[in-house]
Amino acid sequence: MSDNSTNHLRTTNIHPLFWSDAEAAPFENCINCKMNLPESNTPYLIEKAVRGFDGEKVTATIFEYAVCVNCAQEMNLKLSKGSRERIESFFKERVNFQQRFNQLRDQDDEEWLRRCLVHHEEVNEEGECQLYALCQGDQMLYQEFPYMIRTEALDEMMDLLSAETLRQLDDFKDDLIDGPSEFKELLKKGGPKVLL
Ligand SMILES: [Zn+2]
Repeated sequence: MSDNSTNHLRTTNIHPLFWSDAEAAPFENCINCKMNLPESNTPYLIEKAVRGFDGEKVTATIFEYAVCVNCAQEMNLKLSKGSRERIESFFKERVNFQQRFNQLRDQDDEEWLRRCLVHHEEVNEEGECQLYALCQGDQMLYQEFPYMIRTEALDEMMDLLSAETLRQLDDFKDDLIDGPSEFKELLKKGGPKVLL
């Protein structure tokens, strides 16, 4: 990096870890509005739930999707105000994104992802976690993203959500998935647990 400004946004081609495993290629469409993501200027999030992850490769993918920031925002607004505030303060108390960026800015992807954003621990072979990246076009953006959150931390976050919010997330997931029923079942069981 030649630019030393603190918030310099680093970008690289999207790491294959954040490609669609189902397609063995980068994600093409927003799961909700179906917008073509690589051709659009709209940033988008990629979320994957995986089992066994060492910072480089996963043992198995449980679910995966890409969502444009507009639809992600729409999902976020479905959370109750109380739930949103509790999740926000959870991150404020537990994660120093600025410090993290300063530490990781020149590191490779493995270092960004190997340890849990919240618990700073690795995932064991049997462990599950979710991987998150923010992309635009064919580029991955590095600032707060990318990160990994272990299931243990996601469970803590789930406990912060109101019953109303959990029900709305379930409804939204049901609306979202018009694909193969197998995928629908996975989503119902597995997540997305928390939409960030
Ligand atoms: Zn969308």
